[in-house]
Amino acid sequence: MDAGERFLSLLPEDLRGSVRRGLPLSGLTTLRVGGPAALVCPVQNPEQALRFQQTADQAGLPWFVLGGGSNVLADDRGFGGAILKIEAVGLERQGDAIAVQAGMPFDALVAATLAEGLCGLEFASGIPGSVGGALAGNAGCYGREIRDLVGEVTVLTPGGRIERRGPEECGFRYRGSALRDAGDIVLSAVLRLHRGGLDAAVAERNAHLADRRAKHPVTEPSAGSWFRNLDPAEPGGRRQPAGVLLEEAGAKQMREGDAAVFARHANIIVNLGHARSDEVRRLVSRMREAVQRRFDVLLQEEVRYLDPSAPAGRTI
Ligand SMILES: Cc1cc2nc3c(=O)[nH]c(=O)nc-3n(C[C@H](O)[C@H](O)[C@H](O)COP(=O)(O)OP(=O)(O)OC[C@H]3O[C@@H](n4cnc5c(N)ncnc54)[C@H](O)[C@@H]3O)c2cc1C
Repeated sequence: MDAGERFLSLLPEDLRGSVRRGLPLSGLTTLRVGGPAALVCPVQNPEQALRFQQTADQAGLPWFVLGGGSNVLADDRGFGGAILKIEAVGLERQGDAIAVQAGMPFDALVAATLAEGLCGLEFASGIPGSVGGALAGNAGCYGREIRDLVGEVTVLTPGGRIERRGPEECGFRYRGSALRDAGDIVLSAVLRLHRGGLDAAVAERNAHLADRRAKHPVTEPSAGSWFRNLDPAEPGGRRQPAGVLLEEAGAKQMREGDAAVFARHANIIVNLGHARSDEVRRLVSRMREAVQRRFDVLLQEEVRYLDPSAPAGRTI
């Protein structure tokens, strides 16, 4: 019996019934690249997430958590392990705060909070993906980050405990967190919002959505910015956008098969139709090498690669 079959045989029946086999990762990621995922396991609550984690570890299976798939490059060979998909999307108002579950689409949360008259999240309008992915990666834009609003995050630890973490325990940093480093699964969070200035907040949302439509690919699939922006030259300074270096290094002219650098933003890769993962990876290498040659700077990837040969246990 292989690890996948062992996993299925050990999985409690309520979860086994909802496992999907062989779903193409191209359909689960915004770049629309990737072969079949052996097992995709949707969970509706923390207890099911815990049972998934325990069973995958017991079966010796590679596994990982997938949110909206907007920051992941999957491989054409697929993924032989199990994917945990948190589907819990509940939302509860607690005064001026909002308690939200990790499976909620992040931009739907922004819209829902404004509809409730609560402001604070409008800066994040248009960021794709799930609330869980946004918290694990400390999503941000326009000089703000989700960490600015976190009151508390509830996680499932690798040891199988469900714990609540205050903002300072989450170790948020630019596009990352201690939650992610520790292998915690984000289950839900409480975000601190405020009343007042709703008209301005709605106007800000609309402006950001229009800005994204103008600057980001609308029809072509992508995974957002591929590389992280550079560390500031001095403490407290601004990060230098990787896109500026890429543009000056000539990246906008680069293409490998159906994987191409987006014409309006040199740090975004678009899928022009049937891009393959090896084409994307070749293009990423060329972009990085061009910047290294021209500026002697080694860009770090923000998008996470789902390795089909990952060993047992949690990956990415
Ligand atoms: C057009 C476009 C524009 C974008 N603009 C921005 C932007 O302005 N700012 C920005 O920060 N990002 C941006 N992104 C990148 C991406 O949308 C964010 O990083 C997003 O927060 C990822 O969330 P996700 O649910 O899609 O995560 P996924 O891509 O599914 O996963 C990314 C990582 O997070 C982990 N993860 C997902 N859910 C959980 C969970 N519940 N618990 C623990 N770990 C989890 C995964 O295991 C993986 O390692 C953009 C992407 C696109 C396609």
